[in-house]
Amino acid sequence: MRIAKFMATAGVASRRKSEELILQGKVKVNGKTVSELGLQVDPEQDQVTYLGRVLQISQERIYIMLNKPVGCVSTCSDDKGRATVLDYIRDIDCRIYPVGRLDFTTEGLLLLTNDGELANKLTHPSHEVGKRYYVVVDSYVSPDEIDKLQKGVFLEEGKTAPARIKVMKAEPSRTELTMVIHEGRNRQVRRMFETLGKNVVFLKRISVGELNLGSLKRGEYRFLTPEEVDYLR
Ligand code: URA
Repeated sequence: MRIAKFMATAGVASRRKSEELILQGKVKVNGKTVSELGLQVDPEQDQVTYLGRVLQISQERIYIMLNKPVGCVSTCSDDKGRATVLDYIRDIDCRIYPVGRLDFTTEGLLLLTNDGELANKLTHPSHEVGKRYYVVVDSYVSPDEIDKLQKGVFLEEGKTAPARIKVMKAEPSRTELTMVIHEGRNRQVRRMFETLGKNVVFLKRISVGELNLGSLKRGEYRFLTPEEVDYLR
């Protein structure tokens, strides 16, 4: 946007007054004094200062919980032209992005936000929030194998941290369970079962820490409550 508009939006002065301030040499962009009134600035990339004060457009923070359906990628764009999770979000005119990833064939709780700080915190390996998955395997998983998964199994990048598993059904051709993991490695749940020669045929994330998917339908989303945002922070 034009620099005077940026300054006005940041609350410095009206656009016309801002132009005067620019001509008086009181405004810098990325450390250089500017004089060109037509200069365009990118509010997310450029640092604009007025008499040494960094100007910011206060942007509303948005926090969304989506029930990601199978069949879309959890990135903002896809070079293969597949649907993305952003296709499910309507009426938001700022840039939001997913916190972490769910596979194309995984469904369930995905957070989206424009709060980079919170997104970084939640995806940082030291962040220990438990993510609960509902898992269906197309064969029998024995108590011994459950024990191995809970204690940690070796993936390419090393041993997985302890996991918590509750088995709901264990039949010769189907095992249903919930599993809580604290890491976010790529395809982690599927790969953990693969180390035992097991095949995950359905995977759904049902909670992240104390945030639950609840009755949110596939493809639907809602804004987090202030309490939920406080909890995540
Ligand atoms: N583990 C997986 O294997 N896939 C996901 O999408 C999430 C966790």
